[in-house]
Amino acid sequence: MTSGHGSIVEQASGSRITGKTRLIGLFGSPVSHSRSPVMQNSVFEAMGLDYAYLAFDIGLADTARAIDALRLLDMRGANVTMPLKRAVIPHLDRLSPSAQLAGAVNVIVNDGGVLTGHITDGTGFMLSLAEKGIARRGQRMVLLGAGGAAIAVAIEAATEGMAAISLFNRRDDFHAEAERFAAELDRRFDSEIGIFDLDDRTLLADHVSRADILVNATPVGMEDTIDRMALPDTGVLRPDLVVCDLIYVPRETRLLREAAARGCVTVSGIGMQLYQAAPAFEMWTGRKMDIAVARRALFSGA
Ligand code: NAP
Repeated sequence: MTSGHGSIVEQASGSRITGKTRLIGLFGSPVSHSRSPVMQNSVFEAMGLDYAYLAFDIGLADTARAIDALRLLDMRGANVTMPLKRAVIPHLDRLSPSAQLAGAVNVIVNDGGVLTGHITDGTGFMLSLAEKGIARRGQRMVLLGAGGAAIAVAIEAATEGMAAISLFNRRDDFHAEAERFAAELDRRFDSEIGIFDLDDRTLLADHVSRADILVNATPVGMEDTIDRMALPDTGVLRPDLVVCDLIYVPRETRLLREAAARGCVTVSGIGMQLYQAAPAFEMWTGRKMDIAVARRALFSGA
Protein backbone atom coordinates (compact mmCIF):
# COMPACT_ATOMS: atom_id res chain seq x y z
CA MET A 1 0.00 0.00 0.00
CA THR A 2 2.95 2.30 0.72
CA SER A 3 4.12 2.25 -2.89
CA GLY A 4 0.48 2.74 -4.02
CA HIS A 5 0.12 5.87 -1.91
CA GLY A 6 3.46 7.04 -3.22
CA SER A 7 2.31 6.81 -6.81
CA ILE A 8 -0.90 8.77 -6.06
CA VAL A 9 1.04 11.54 -4.31
CA GLU A 10 3.41 11.65 -7.24
CA GLN A 11 0.50 12.05 -9.67
CA ALA A 12 -1.19 14.68 -7.47
CA SER A 13 1.92 16.85 -7.41
CA GLY A 14 2.59 16.32 -11.11
CA SER A 15 0.90 17.68 -14.20
CA ARG A 16 -2.10 15.31 -14.22
CA ILE A 17 -4.15 17.39 -11.73
CA THR A 18 -5.53 20.60 -13.23
CA GLY A 19 -7.86 23.38 -12.12
CA LYS A 20 -10.69 21.45 -13.74
CA THR A 21 -9.98 18.00 -12.29
CA ARG A 22 -13.18 16.43 -10.96
CA LEU A 23 -12.97 14.59 -7.67
CA ILE A 24 -14.50 11.15 -7.08
CA GLY A 25 -14.56 9.78 -3.53
CA LEU A 26 -14.76 6.52 -1.65
CA PHE A 27 -16.96 7.02 1.43
CA GLY A 28 -17.06 4.48 4.26
CA SER A 29 -15.10 3.18 7.22
CA PRO A 30 -12.58 1.61 7.21
CA VAL A 31 -11.30 2.58 3.75
CA SER A 32 -7.52 2.77 4.13
CA HIS A 33 -7.17 -0.89 2.98
CA SER A 34 -9.07 -0.22 -0.26
CA ARG A 35 -7.28 -0.63 -3.58
CA SER A 36 -9.97 1.34 -5.43
CA PRO A 37 -7.97 4.62 -5.39
CA VAL A 38 -4.93 2.91 -6.93
CA MET A 39 -7.08 1.15 -9.52
CA GLN A 40 -9.23 4.13 -10.52
CA ASN A 41 -6.35 6.64 -10.64
CA SER A 42 -4.22 4.26 -12.72
CA VAL A 43 -7.00 4.00 -15.30
CA PHE A 44 -7.70 7.77 -15.30
CA GLU A 45 -4.01 8.37 -15.97
CA ALA A 46 -3.69 5.64 -18.61
CA MET A 47 -6.79 6.90 -20.43
CA GLY A 48 -5.87 10.60 -20.02
CA LEU A 49 -9.05 11.42 -18.08
CA ASP A 50 -9.16 14.49 -15.81
CA TYR A 51 -10.48 12.86 -12.63
CA ALA A 52 -8.91 12.06 -9.26
CA TYR A 53 -10.15 9.40 -6.83
CA LEU A 54 -9.56 9.64 -3.07
CA ALA A 55 -10.72 7.60 -0.07
CA PHE A 56 -12.46 9.38 2.83
CA ASP A 57 -13.01 7.65 6.17
CA ILE A 58 -16.64 8.50 6.93
CA GLY A 59 -18.58 6.96 9.81
CA LEU A 60 -22.37 6.64 9.99
CA ALA A 61 -22.77 9.82 12.05
CA ASP A 62 -21.21 11.88 9.24
CA THR A 63 -23.27 10.48 6.35
CA ALA A 64 -25.30 13.66 5.74
CA ARG A 65 -22.22 15.90 5.96
CA ALA A 66 -20.34 13.69 3.47
CA ILE A 67 -23.18 13.94 0.94
CA ASP A 68 -23.38 17.70 1.50
CA ALA A 69 -19.63 17.90 0.83
CA LEU A 70 -20.06 15.90 -2.37
CA ARG A 71 -22.58 18.51 -3.57
CA LEU A 72 -20.56 21.49 -2.28
CA LEU A 73 -17.32 20.36 -3.91
CA ASP A 74 -19.19 19.45 -7.10
CA MET A 75 -17.63 16.00 -6.98
CA ARG A 76 -18.49 13.78 -9.96
CA GLY A 77 -19.58 11.06 -7.59
CA ALA A 78 -18.48 8.47 -5.09
CA ASN A 79 -18.25 4.81 -4.26
CA VAL A 80 -19.99 3.97 -1.01
CA THR A 81 -18.90 1.12 1.22
CA MET A 82 -19.70 -0.19 4.70
CA PRO A 83 -21.33 1.07 6.86
CA LEU A 84 -22.96 3.72 4.66
CA LYS A 85 -24.57 1.74 1.86
CA ARG A 86 -28.07 2.08 3.29
CA ALA A 87 -27.52 5.29 5.25
CA VAL A 88 -26.82 7.42 2.15
CA ILE A 89 -30.18 6.63 0.55
CA PRO A 90 -32.31 9.32 2.27
CA HIS A 91 -29.78 11.94 1.15
CA LEU A 92 -29.93 11.10 -2.58
CA ASP A 93 -32.35 12.41 -5.21
CA ARG A 94 -32.85 9.22 -7.23
CA LEU A 95 -32.16 5.49 -7.11
CA SER A 96 -31.65 3.01 -9.95
CA PRO A 97 -34.23 0.17 -9.94
CA SER A 98 -31.63 -2.32 -8.58
CA ALA A 99 -30.54 0.05 -5.80
CA GLN A 100 -34.19 0.62 -4.95
CA LEU A 101 -34.81 -3.11 -4.72
CA ALA A 102 -31.58 -3.82 -2.81
CA GLY A 103 -32.11 -0.88 -0.45
CA ALA A 104 -28.37 -0.22 -0.83
CA VAL A 105 -26.08 1.97 -2.89
CA ASN A 106 -22.40 1.53 -3.79
CA VAL A 107 -22.12 4.21 -6.49
CA ILE A 108 -23.30 7.83 -6.49
CA VAL A 109 -23.35 9.84 -9.70
CA ASN A 110 -23.68 13.64 -9.52
CA ASP A 111 -25.34 15.10 -12.62
CA GLY A 112 -25.43 18.86 -12.11
CA GLY A 113 -26.41 18.55 -8.46
CA VAL A 114 -28.84 15.66 -8.94
CA LEU A 115 -27.47 12.65 -7.05
CA THR A 116 -28.43 9.16 -8.25
CA GLY A 117 -27.59 5.99 -6.29
CA HIS A 118 -26.73 2.75 -8.09
CA ILE A 119 -25.67 -0.73 -6.97
CA THR A 120 -23.08 -2.59 -9.06
CA ASP A 121 -21.95 -5.21 -6.49
CA GLY A 122 -24.21 -7.98 -7.79
CA THR A 123 -23.19 -7.56 -11.43
CA GLY A 124 -19.54 -7.42 -10.35
CA PHE A 125 -19.83 -10.68 -8.43
CA MET A 126 -21.60 -12.54 -11.25
CA LEU A 127 -18.98 -11.33 -13.76
CA SER A 128 -16.24 -12.62 -11.46
CA LEU A 129 -17.88 -16.07 -11.61
CA ALA A 130 -18.32 -15.83 -15.38
CA GLU A 131 -14.62 -14.94 -15.77
CA LYS A 132 -13.74 -18.26 -14.10
CA GLY A 133 -16.21 -20.20 -16.25
CA ILE A 134 -18.47 -21.00 -13.28
CA ALA A 135 -22.06 -21.85 -14.26
CA ARG A 136 -24.83 -19.64 -12.84
CA ARG A 137 -28.12 -20.53 -14.52
CA GLY A 138 -30.00 -23.28 -12.66
CA GLN A 139 -27.42 -23.42 -9.84
CA ARG A 140 -28.15 -23.34 -6.09
CA MET A 141 -26.39 -20.73 -3.94
CA VAL A 142 -25.98 -20.25 -0.19
CA LEU A 143 -25.05 -16.76 1.00
CA LEU A 144 -23.70 -16.12 4.51
CA GLY A 145 -24.98 -12.65 5.48
CA ALA A 146 -27.90 -10.60 4.25
CA GLY A 147 -26.43 -7.10 4.10
CA GLY A 148 -26.18 -4.77 1.11
CA ALA A 149 -23.69 -6.91 -0.82
CA ALA A 150 -25.55 -10.18 -0.16
CA ILE A 151 -28.86 -8.70 -1.31
CA ALA A 152 -27.23 -7.22 -4.43
CA VAL A 153 -25.66 -10.62 -5.24
CA ALA A 154 -29.02 -12.35 -4.63
CA ILE A 155 -30.82 -9.96 -6.99
CA GLU A 156 -28.28 -10.49 -9.78
CA ALA A 157 -28.17 -14.26 -9.18
CA ALA A 158 -31.96 -14.40 -9.48
CA THR A 159 -31.83 -12.19 -12.59
CA GLU A 160 -29.35 -14.63 -14.15
CA GLY A 161 -31.67 -17.56 -13.40
CA MET A 162 -30.15 -19.34 -10.42
CA ALA A 163 -32.57 -22.00 -9.17
CA ALA A 164 -32.28 -21.32 -5.44
CA ILE A 165 -30.72 -18.65 -3.24
CA SER A 166 -30.57 -19.20 0.54
CA LEU A 167 -29.46 -16.30 2.73
CA PHE A 168 -28.23 -17.18 6.23
CA ASN A 169 -28.05 -14.27 8.66
CA ARG A 170 -27.70 -13.71 12.38
CA ARG A 171 -31.07 -13.49 14.07
CA ASP A 172 -30.64 -9.90 15.27
CA ASP A 173 -32.50 -6.60 14.81
CA PHE A 174 -31.93 -6.64 11.05
CA HIS A 175 -33.31 -10.16 10.54
CA ALA A 176 -36.96 -9.05 10.20
CA GLU A 177 -35.99 -6.52 7.54
CA ALA A 178 -33.91 -9.15 5.73
CA GLU A 179 -36.94 -11.47 5.84
CA ARG A 180 -39.03 -8.79 4.10
CA PHE A 181 -36.32 -8.41 1.43
CA ALA A 182 -36.15 -12.14 0.83
CA ALA A 183 -39.96 -12.39 0.57
CA GLU A 184 -40.02 -9.50 -1.92
CA LEU A 185 -37.25 -11.09 -4.04
CA ASP A 186 -38.98 -14.47 -3.90
CA ARG A 187 -42.19 -12.80 -5.15
CA ARG A 188 -40.42 -11.00 -8.02
CA PHE A 189 -38.17 -13.76 -9.34
CA ASP A 190 -38.65 -17.38 -10.42
CA SER A 191 -35.78 -18.52 -8.15
CA GLU A 192 -36.56 -20.09 -4.78
CA ILE A 193 -35.33 -17.42 -2.33
CA GLY A 194 -35.38 -17.72 1.47
CA ILE A 195 -33.72 -16.36 4.59
CA PHE A 196 -32.62 -18.55 7.49
CA ASP A 197 -30.88 -18.37 10.85
CA LEU A 198 -27.07 -18.53 10.58
CA ASP A 199 -26.94 -20.14 14.03
CA ASP A 200 -29.05 -23.09 12.87
CA ARG A 201 -26.08 -25.30 11.94
CA THR A 202 -28.18 -28.29 10.89
CA LEU A 203 -30.25 -26.23 8.47
CA LEU A 204 -27.14 -24.50 7.11
CA ALA A 205 -25.39 -27.85 6.57
CA ASP A 206 -28.49 -29.16 4.78
CA HIS A 207 -28.65 -26.15 2.41
CA VAL A 208 -24.89 -26.26 1.72
CA SER A 209 -25.08 -30.00 0.99
CA ARG A 210 -27.56 -29.21 -1.83
CA ALA A 211 -25.76 -26.05 -3.03
CA ASP A 212 -23.36 -25.56 -5.94
CA ILE A 213 -21.96 -22.24 -4.71
CA LEU A 214 -21.27 -20.99 -1.16
CA VAL A 215 -20.57 -17.27 -0.65
CA ASN A 216 -19.35 -15.40 2.41
CA ALA A 217 -21.04 -11.99 2.28
CA THR A 218 -20.16 -11.01 5.87
CA PRO A 219 -17.07 -9.06 6.93
CA VAL A 220 -15.92 -12.02 9.05
CA GLY A 221 -12.43 -12.89 7.82
CA MET A 222 -11.07 -9.38 7.35
CA GLU A 223 -9.19 -7.02 9.67
CA ASP A 224 -9.54 -8.02 13.34
CA THR A 225 -11.44 -11.20 12.40
CA ILE A 226 -8.77 -12.37 9.94
CA ASP A 227 -8.53 -15.79 11.66
CA ARG A 228 -12.28 -16.37 11.71
CA MET A 229 -15.00 -17.58 9.35
CA ALA A 230 -18.76 -16.98 9.28
CA LEU A 231 -19.13 -20.66 8.30
CA PRO A 232 -19.40 -22.53 11.60
CA ASP A 233 -18.47 -26.01 10.31
CA THR A 234 -15.87 -26.77 7.63
CA GLY A 235 -17.19 -30.35 7.43
CA VAL A 236 -19.76 -29.10 4.89
CA LEU A 237 -17.05 -28.19 2.35
CA ARG A 238 -16.78 -30.76 -0.46
CA PRO A 239 -14.69 -30.72 -3.66
CA ASP A 240 -17.58 -30.00 -6.06
CA LEU A 241 -18.63 -26.89 -4.11
CA VAL A 242 -17.53 -23.48 -5.44
CA VAL A 243 -16.59 -21.34 -2.42
CA CYS A 244 -16.48 -17.55 -2.77
CA ASP A 245 -15.61 -14.75 -0.40
CA LEU A 246 -16.68 -11.18 -1.11
CA ILE A 247 -13.77 -10.00 1.07
CA TYR A 248 -10.83 -8.83 -1.06
CA VAL A 249 -8.33 -7.94 1.70
CA PRO A 250 -6.90 -10.41 2.45
CA ARG A 251 -7.21 -11.89 -1.02
CA GLU A 252 -7.26 -15.38 0.45
CA THR A 253 -9.38 -15.49 3.60
CA ARG A 254 -9.35 -18.36 6.07
CA LEU A 255 -12.58 -19.62 4.50
CA LEU A 256 -10.94 -19.78 1.07
CA ARG A 257 -7.86 -21.51 2.50
CA GLU A 258 -9.99 -24.14 4.24
CA ALA A 259 -12.05 -24.62 1.07
CA ALA A 260 -8.97 -24.94 -1.17
CA ALA A 261 -7.53 -27.52 1.24
CA ARG A 262 -10.72 -29.57 0.73
CA GLY A 263 -10.45 -29.38 -3.06
CA CYS A 264 -13.09 -26.68 -3.71
CA VAL A 265 -12.77 -24.13 -6.51
CA THR A 266 -12.37 -20.79 -4.71
CA VAL A 267 -13.22 -17.25 -5.83
CA SER A 268 -11.80 -14.22 -4.02
CA GLY A 269 -13.64 -10.88 -3.75
CA ILE A 270 -10.91 -9.19 -5.78
CA GLY A 271 -12.59 -10.18 -9.07
CA MET A 272 -15.85 -8.68 -7.83
CA GLN A 273 -14.02 -5.51 -6.87
CA LEU A 274 -12.65 -5.23 -10.39
CA TYR A 275 -15.95 -5.87 -12.14
CA GLN A 276 -18.14 -3.73 -9.85
CA ALA A 277 -15.83 -0.80 -10.59
CA ALA A 278 -16.24 -0.91 -14.38
CA PRO A 279 -19.91 0.21 -14.58
CA ALA A 280 -19.23 2.96 -12.01
CA PHE A 281 -16.27 4.21 -14.03
CA GLU A 282 -18.43 4.31 -17.14
CA MET A 283 -21.22 6.23 -15.39
CA TRP A 284 -18.77 8.86 -14.09
CA THR A 285 -16.65 9.33 -17.20
CA GLY A 286 -18.84 8.19 -20.10
CA ARG A 287 -15.95 5.92 -21.18
CA LYS A 288 -15.48 2.14 -20.93
CA MET A 289 -12.94 1.25 -18.27
CA ASP A 290 -9.67 -0.22 -19.53
CA ILE A 291 -10.03 -3.51 -17.66
CA ALA A 292 -6.45 -4.61 -18.37
CA VAL A 293 -5.01 -1.49 -16.69
CA ALA A 294 -7.49 -1.78 -13.81
CA ARG A 295 -6.66 -5.44 -13.27
CA ARG A 296 -2.91 -4.76 -13.29
CA ALA A 297 -3.28 -1.95 -10.74
CA LEU A 298 -5.63 -3.94 -8.53
CA PHE A 299 -3.68 -7.18 -8.57
CA SER A 300 -0.25 -5.61 -8.15
CA GLY A 301 -1.44 -2.99 -5.69
CA ALA A 302 0.83 -0.60 -7.59
P1 NAP B 1 -23.30 -4.90 5.41
O1 NAP B 1 -24.41 -4.31 4.62
O2 NAP B 1 -22.85 -4.23 6.67
O3 NAP B 1 -23.71 -6.41 5.75
C1 NAP B 1 -22.87 -7.24 6.50
C2 NAP B 1 -23.57 -8.58 6.69
O4 NAP B 1 -22.69 -9.41 7.46
C3 NAP B 1 -24.85 -8.48 7.50
O5 NAP B 1 -25.73 -9.49 7.08
C4 NAP B 1 -24.37 -8.74 8.92
O6 NAP B 1 -25.35 -9.27 9.76
C5 NAP B 1 -23.34 -9.80 8.68
N1 NAP B 1 -22.36 -9.85 9.74
C6 NAP B 1 -21.58 -8.85 10.20
N2 NAP B 1 -20.78 -9.29 11.19
C7 NAP B 1 -21.08 -10.60 11.37
C8 NAP B 1 -20.61 -11.60 12.26
N3 NAP B 1 -19.66 -11.34 13.15
N4 NAP B 1 -21.14 -12.84 12.17
C9 NAP B 1 -22.10 -13.12 11.26
N5 NAP B 1 -22.61 -12.21 10.40
C10 NAP B 1 -22.09 -10.97 10.46
O7 NAP B 1 -21.99 -5.07 4.52
P2 NAP B 1 -21.90 -5.38 2.94
O8 NAP B 1 -21.75 -4.13 2.22
O9 NAP B 1 -22.99 -6.31 2.61
O10 NAP B 1 -20.46 -6.11 2.86
C11 NAP B 1 -20.28 -7.43 3.29
C12 NAP B 1 -18.88 -7.91 2.92
O11 NAP B 1 -18.73 -7.91 1.50
C13 NAP B 1 -17.74 -7.04 3.45
O12 NAP B 1 -16.67 -7.85 3.83
C14 NAP B 1 -17.32 -6.21 2.27
O13 NAP B 1 -15.96 -5.82 2.32
C15 NAP B 1 -17.56 -7.20 1.14
N6 NAP B 1 -17.79 -6.54 -0.14
C16 NAP B 1 -16.91 -6.77 -1.15
C17 NAP B 1 -17.08 -6.18 -2.37
C18 NAP B 1 -16.11 -6.46 -3.49
O14 NAP B 1 -16.05 -5.68 -4.43
N7 NAP B 1 -15.38 -7.56 -3.42
C19 NAP B 1 -18.18 -5.34 -2.59
C20 NAP B 1 -19.08 -5.13 -1.55
C21 NAP B 1 -18.87 -5.74 -0.31
P3 NAP B 1 -26.27 -8.30 10.65
O15 NAP B 1 -27.30 -7.77 9.73
O16 NAP B 1 -26.82 -9.23 11.64
O17 NAP B 1 -25.38 -7.25 11.22
